Amino acid sequence: MRRPVVCGDYDVIVVGAGITGGTIARELSKYTLKAAVMERASDIPFGSSRANSSMIHGGFDDKPGTLKARFCPAGNKMYKVLHEELDFKYRACGSYVCAIGPDEERHLEMLLGYGHKNGVQGLEIISGNALREKEPRTSPEITAALWSPTAAIVNNFEASIAFIDNARQNGVDLFMETEVTGLLFSEDGSHIRGVSTSRGDFTSRVVINAAGVNADLISRMAGDDSFVIQPTRGEYFIFDRNIGGMIDAFFFSCPSDKGKGVTVTHTADDNLLIGPTSVVQTDRENRNTTRPGLEEVFEGAARLVPNIPRNMAITTFSGVRANSVSGDFHIYPLDKPRGFFNAAGIKSPGFTSAPAIASFAVETIKETMPDLVKFEPDPKFVPERRHIPRFADMTMDERKRLAAGDPKWGQIVCRCESVTEAQVVEAIQRGARTVAGVKLWVRPGTGRCQGGFCAPRVVEILARELGVSPLEITRHGGDSRMLTGRTKDPLKAEGRP
Ligand SMILES: Cc1cc2nc3c(=O)[nH]c(=O)nc-3n(C[C@H](O)[C@H](O)[C@H](O)COP(=O)(O)OP(=O)(O)OC[C@H]3O[C@@H](n4cnc5c(N)ncnc54)[C@H](O)[C@@H]3O)c2cc1C
Repeated sequence: MRRPVVCGDYDVIVVGAGITGGTIARELSKYTLKAAVMERASDIPFGSSRANSSMIHGGFDDKPGTLKARFCPAGNKMYKVLHEELDFKYRACGSYVCAIGPDEERHLEMLLGYGHKNGVQGLEIISGNALREKEPRTSPEITAALWSPTAAIVNNFEASIAFIDNARQNGVDLFMETEVTGLLFSEDGSHIRGVSTSRGDFTSRVVINAAGVNADLISRMAGDDSFVIQPTRGEYFIFDRNIGGMIDAFFFSCPSDKGKGVTVTHTADDNLLIGPTSVVQTDRENRNTTRPGLEEVFEGAARLVPNIPRNMAITTFSGVRANSVSGDFHIYPLDKPRGFFNAAGIKSPGFTSAPAIASFAVETIKETMPDLVKFEPDPKFVPERRHIPRFADMTMDERKRLAAGDPKWGQIVCRCESVTEAQVVEAIQRGARTVAGVKLWVRPGTGRCQGGFCAPRVVEILARELGVSPLEITRHGGDSRMLTGRTKDPLKAEGRP
């Protein structure tokens, strides 16, 4: 459906439109320079930014001195402003790390110490009984918990879209279904000259690598093989919104060498979410869920919150972390070729850290590459953007007023999440091209029927708005067509009217 691009000339090209690429693109859009983002997928977000716990971590569990410990608490603070500026859902819920027994309690003390060194405010260890007074559904086995009041949860789809959307409003070009397949260099190899992509070559003086699970591959193209990504899958269950209120805060198990362990949370959209596992794999794309993985999730969650009704699960999913073998982020410019910048190994807490990483990346490029790009502040930069109005959250009067102005606001497309035709149309006008893309923007298909009711209607609206046959509409791009052909009308086949 997308026309081939011949070429383009930019000051800066960002590879990858996840939360890292999106926040960097928005930072760049504050300047008059010409920037573009290349994204191989059909929808945003696609990689780790699409399937994660969506927690805005307090910043206490990363070892002081690491990049994670530096950027996570800083990112946490930035989200408090950014969610209002960019209009994405954010629930200031706080988090508990729960300990069962003396060994795990000692671990809480260690995390508290890390938190103080990392500058995290308001941390406190409370007893198991004090926890149960606030959160009565938590396990009687929990003996103590580390409370972090600054932790929050966001709608990760909305947040990822918001940064890119605002960057685009401020002049950044976004090329979807455009895979970076190589880098272009000056004749002597000393400077970056751009990228080769599945849709042609684009020249650029600076290239920023924010390619998530593929970031080591892009870095190797520039001759830097100093880090290796170890894709690590995490599986989840998500439950009906009816039981989201079982708990209010975000609950962590005590971390182990495998990671932060299984968590239980009430999402920004009121679902109950449990997971993830942590399985190292060689495949960068495998997002399967497995029976043993899901059992592990359920058992881990029950240690924190017993009696979660399994029959209220509406679906399972998994995400792949771009874990670097070093365990930390890799954020730096290369000396040679000049013009290349890595924002790589962005594992958890990468979502939290992204705005702070973005501002550091742009400041570093400004300082180290003044001969390559001119950073003149753009007086026309608009920091705010609005999401598509959320019908589900409106009062009846607001709904009636909108429906009186445009009947599409009165047409419910998704019953589970109360999404109207007007929202679906606006999602398409603002860039959604697939059924998954519409879901990421405005949520049809995220509810209890998982698209059973709304998917045919979304296909119909996509086809109408894009002016193509419904047979062309895909679930998530490529050959994932929703329909395989037309069935014969049985009545007409029998010659009946
Ligand atoms: C299971 C799980 C749980 C997590 N929980 C949390 C959490 O609660 N809180 C938190 O802060 N962090 C969490 N994280 C980490 C967080 O999700 C990531 O750190 C963050 O999303 C990374 O964003 P990114 O933009 O760097 O990568 P991605 O979101 O993966 O984006 C990279 C993009 O690059 C594109 N791309 C790749 N190769 C190419 C190419 N050659 N050409 C063009 N485009 C390309 C991909 O399609 C993708 O869209 C979790 C991660 C996982 C997987």
